[in-house]
Amino acid sequence: MARIVMKFGGTSVADLDRLRNVAARVQREVEAGNEVAVVVSAMSGTTNQLVGWCQGLSSLHDAREYDIVVSTGEQITAGLLAIALQTLGIEARSWAGWQIPIRTDGAHGKARIEAIEGQELIRRMGLGQVAVVTGFQGLGPDNRITTLGRGGSDTSAVALAAALGADRCDIYTDVDGVYTTDPRIVPRARKLARISYEEMLELASVGAKVLQTRSVELAMKEQVRVQVLSSFQDLPGTLVVDEDEIVEKEIVSGIAYSRDEAKLTVRGVPDRPGVAAAVFGKLAAENVNVDMIVQNISEEGMTDMTFTVGETDLPRAQAALSAVQPEIGYAELLADINVAKISVVGVGMRSHAGIASTMFKALADKGINIQVISTSEIKVSILIASEYTELAVRSLHTAYGLDAS
Ligand code: ADP
Ligand code: ASP
Ligand code: MG
Repeated sequence: MARIVMKFGGTSVADLDRLRNVAARVQREVEAGNEVAVVVSAMSGTTNQLVGWCQGLSSLHDAREYDIVVSTGEQITAGLLAIALQTLGIEARSWAGWQIPIRTDGAHGKARIEAIEGQELIRRMGLGQVAVVTGFQGLGPDNRITTLGRGGSDTSAVALAAALGADRCDIYTDVDGVYTTDPRIVPRARKLARISYEEMLELASVGAKVLQTRSVELAMKEQVRVQVLSSFQDLPGTLVVDEDEIVEKEIVSGIAYSRDEAKLTVRGVPDRPGVAAAVFGKLAAENVNVDMIVQNISEEGMTDMTFTVGETDLPRAQAALSAVQPEIGYAELLADINVAKISVVGVGMRSHAGIASTMFKALADKGINIQVISTSEIKVSILIASEYTELAVRSLHTAYGLDAS
């Protein structure tokens, strides 16, 4: 007997037939004698619609109201799945985040889970009741509903698995594992039987949406055994494990892309101490995460600063920087949302030279211009025009020898 958390994403619960399919999978685990908690996402498309409604009214909407709106999708699925399980004769009940509660910090729209009170769930699971928990949401210190950022149900699942002391956290999705890159844009991508927490963390943080970054961070910290697998087919998935559990290490294990980036250029900034602190300090105060940064050499005491922020943070970043324009005295603020970030990730980079140059050459061969570059110990990222995203990912996948034969 094991205690397991099963998480089902949006496509896996997209309609009643798929919910029945999910219920049947849960039933199999229950009949095998396991204690089961299920974490569900909203039906696919629902969260986008809810976000769109908030944005349609105001791009600078109150994040607390955004949270109460966008968290509703998960509530629908949790109730529906509980009903589907009950029709199979399985004792089940739904739990909204606030009912458990799943406590988070107060960063509405991108809150972090701080604590989960799992005792009551454990007690009921011990009596054979399946807990169906809403993903993506929690309860903030202001006693209002928070959400965990897009894709946050993965994090709900891992955090719940840690709180319940679960033996496994199975993430069921619409692909059958983690691939060398998004199999939807590179059909020759290869499924990885295992991937290290560290590489998965890096891939997720640069755009591989198969797991939310924070979920991998938590899994690594809490040593949760995470498995990514298909909710439609019975196939072995991908296990996320410690690096020393991987025997054959690749130099590059994966390529990720993100189109959710926006490039901002602050043009004509006085090149003196304190300016970067003023620009980035203001953005930090507005809770805007800045990613890639470049500053040009100055000419006549003036310089340009280019950096990227998440596309959804762009209106707030623009508003924040416009407010400090008189203080900083820059000439112009330019924004470009037609950019994409492409990243190559692998722990082998620590000990191998030439990874970045292979990347630059492969892109040059396709005539793709690189706008910004950033690197870390196990990653190289570049920013390009978004229209070249697929071409760039495919070319790099081939250049690093990752294509399936
Ligand atoms: P869910 O709704 O189940 O949470 P997501 O859409 O969030 O599913 O994540 C699954 C998707 O992640 C896949 O459909 C795939 O297009 C995408 N993806 C991106 N990178 C990868 C990768 N390296 N391996 C597998 N899937 C990936
Ligand atoms: N429904 C939320 C989203 O679409 C959370 C999730 O699916 O993980 O972002
Ligand atoms: Mg997801």
